Amino acid sequence: MIFLKTEDEIELMRAANQLVAATLTEIAKKIQPGVTTLQLDHLAEEFIRDHGAIPTFKGFPNPYGGPFPASICASVNEEVVHGIPNDRPLENGDIVSVDCGALLNGFNGDSCYTFCVGEVKDEVKQLLRVTKESLYLGIQSAITGKRIGDIGFAVQEHCESHGYGVVKEFVGHGIGKEMHEDPAVPNYGRRGNGPLIKNGLCIAIEPMITMGSPQIGMMPDRWTVKTTDGKCAAHFEHTIAIHHGKADILSSFEEIEKIEGKLY
Ligand code: MG
Ligand code: MG
Repeated sequence: MIFLKTEDEIELMRAANQLVAATLTEIAKKIQPGVTTLQLDHLAEEFIRDHGAIPTFKGFPNPYGGPFPASICASVNEEVVHGIPNDRPLENGDIVSVDCGALLNGFNGDSCYTFCVGEVKDEVKQLLRVTKESLYLGIQSAITGKRIGDIGFAVQEHCESHGYGVVKEFVGHGIGKEMHEDPAVPNYGRRGNGPLIKNGLCIAIEPMITMGSPQIGMMPDRWTVKTTDGKCAAHFEHTIAIHHGKADILSSFEEIEKIEGKLY
């Protein structure tokens, strides 16, 4: 069942998502070779709790194994999603997708950004650029009267036109009082298909895009998902609300991009 949000609820969603954006900004300030994803996780958890919120990912149940042990997902290079923070130092040339969620005043924020660590190869930077572009193309398609399939179509068309793979096993989602609500928001689709987009709809759009084959595998920790060909994957996510007929982006990359400068 899809829960459409009122104006007041959209503002609560905005506050939660702005906290997630601020958390990712704190992470952006720290990312460099030698830093571990466990250090980034501790920073995120403290920042979220200091702002009166709960890190939603911590303890998130897994039907196939133990609950998620950390406050961020940190997926490095060929890891696509749900990487568990660890004590391996990030290296020059790595990329790391940091996915973060927070529950503030009863509503959830959810956003992800793929960061460069030091100097990253141009071909990898292009993967990040195209994935981020596809996110915004998906967002542009999220207008009243269109359907969820229009979002996925826009993401898929852009990424596949660059020869990249679209991961199909994991998708975006409705979001609100629960982190994952209806509808599912795939990164692939057909125009005019799927649930109708209406005012008050709140969704997370999150393309997970691979440099090579979209085939993925689950690691023995039952969380970490990797590409099977070992090539890099990128993941960018915004939470949006449909407001006055079009997408209102509740999360933000603005401060992160100021820190990153013009990387790609
Ligand atoms: Mg997320
Ligand atoms: Mg999400």
